[in-house]
Amino acid sequence: MRATVMYEAGDVRIENVPDPTIVDPTDAVVRVTRACICGSDLWPYKTMEHNETGRVMGHEAIGVVDAVGADVRNITRGDLVVMPFAFSDGTCVFCHEGLQTSCVHGGFFGTVDVPGAQAEAVRVPQADGTLVVLAVGDDDALLPSLLTLSDVMGTGHHAAVTANVRPGKIAAVVGDGAVGLCGVIAAKRLGADQIILLGRHPDRVALAREFGATDVVSERGGEAVERVRELTDGYGVHAVLECVGLEQSELTAIQIARPGGAVGRVGVPQDETMPASQPAFYNNISVSGGPAPVRAYIEELLPDILEGRIEPGRVFDRVIDLDEVPDGYRGMNDREAIKVMVTP
Ligand SMILES: [Zn+2]
Repeated sequence: MRATVMYEAGDVRIENVPDPTIVDPTDAVVRVTRACICGSDLWPYKTMEHNETGRVMGHEAIGVVDAVGADVRNITRGDLVVMPFAFSDGTCVFCHEGLQTSCVHGGFFGTVDVPGAQAEAVRVPQADGTLVVLAVGDDDALLPSLLTLSDVMGTGHHAAVTANVRPGKIAAVVGDGAVGLCGVIAAKRLGADQIILLGRHPDRVALAREFGATDVVSERGGEAVERVRELTDGYGVHAVLECVGLEQSELTAIQIARPGGAVGRVGVPQDETMPASQPAFYNNISVSGGPAPVRAYIEELLPDILEGRIEPGRVFDRVIDLDEVPDGYRGMNDREAIKVMVTP
């Protein structure tokens, strides 16, 4: 089959690789009908050191089940399924607590060890715990929004949940990428009264306003902090959704939180240490978040998509086939596209 292989920063190729097969009896093989390129794929695209065998990329997909292992009970051949970016058994202590990204038998797609989904097919470990069957047709107009349940909508929701967004409170979203935009949807969905987006790309800002952002702050650093204070009677916001992961954005997130507020981090941190320890301490700010257990959120978010209350699929502004994926990486990296959908 054909798949997206990254060998080092900037080197993405479409190549023929062995077809995925059932390795463990808990596996499924899924023929991918929709995949996408993630903002987090851009980190290796910028920094990955050369790897001789390469890495089959991609951790978001919808597809049709092609084969299941002998121990798979809930998924059958022909099912249309959505795949969270992490696989999980659904039965361990952490899965029961709704933290499937810490599953003791879990892991992540698109790593050197587990080939990813920017491909014609993907092997899904722990199929029963991981996959969710979708009761829609394969050509349904809802598919782009359903695809965001693999990652960005669930991740934006996790930022809102861990930032403790509550009805009537003020939220701020740091970052105007696909996750930040989904964070706006999530903050509105959980009842935030005022939603301030920190971002500066005109197309993204416009979409954020349609998703429910009430204010936009395009400044950065200290000026951004000033602007947010002006918009909040000088106090800052209750809930900050940090959707970037850079030192500057993490610092801003803590600086715009009001005393007693919370920061939910979902941007993959690019540094070992976290800035602003002292302001976070003196202002009693909770700093939470991490890899989103998107599997835990699918059942909650699915009805809102199926019934049209939220449309996170609008973050996709470019659709390409597999051969165009290298250019899709370039386009997302150059900020030509918010998020790219792939139809293998
Ligand atoms: Zn588990």
